[in-house]
Amino acid sequence: MDTLQEMINQSNRIVFFGGAGVSTESGIPDFRGTDGLYHQKYDYPPETIISHNFFIKNPKEFYRFYKNKMIYLSAKPNAAHLKLAEMERKGKLDCVITQNIDGLHQASGSQKVLELHGSVLRNYCMKCHRLYPVEAVIETPDIPFCSCGGMIKPDVVLYEESLDSKTLMDSVKAVKKADMLIVGGTSLNVYPAASLIDYYSGNRLVLINKTATPYDRRADLMIQDSIGKILGNITIE
Ligand SMILES: [Zn+2]
Repeated sequence: MDTLQEMINQSNRIVFFGGAGVSTESGIPDFRGTDGLYHQKYDYPPETIISHNFFIKNPKEFYRFYKNKMIYLSAKPNAAHLKLAEMERKGKLDCVITQNIDGLHQASGSQKVLELHGSVLRNYCMKCHRLYPVEAVIETPDIPFCSCGGMIKPDVVLYEESLDSKTLMDSVKAVKKADMLIVGGTSLNVYPAASLIDYYSGNRLVLINKTATPYDRRADLMIQDSIGKILGNITIE
């Protein structure tokens, strides 16, 4: 902890890269996790349901899963979200890069958030591109449609879809310029997590995760613990 505090004290351009573990501490389950609840109620594995082709061919079943398992509007930011927002406000942190789609970083006050996998809070008509809030999705029993007749799609990167290239480029740029890179709540097995770390050339790479990651040996500091607990204990001057 002392080493982490010292590293943060010395840094003014921190980039935080976070995965599902940041959100699980707010009660949002990782659909890839072992305690995934989908087995009983769905005929397909989540990776199939949340794929582009499945969405196009079977939107009703997609939305049944999506609304039940991927939207958590009552979830609240935890100590990790709040500390990162404070770090940005006090000029220590450049941006948050996240693989999560729940908008909790923005809810805690973070301004610069690069959402690699999009957000459940944004939705758009596939035909006329009109934007819709998440309520338009959850308040519709089956498939949400636009007034023009087009199908509404969440602005979430599905399997078989590529990441938004601008978000990815902005993430690479931020990591290159960072004087400290904190990676938290990810086992670093999901693309593009690992490849983003390769752009960091400084000597303050910190990994905070409950389990080991393939990058542990490259880290300057490795902490196997809860991200909320660890960041929550940091003091920002
Ligand atoms: Zn439309």
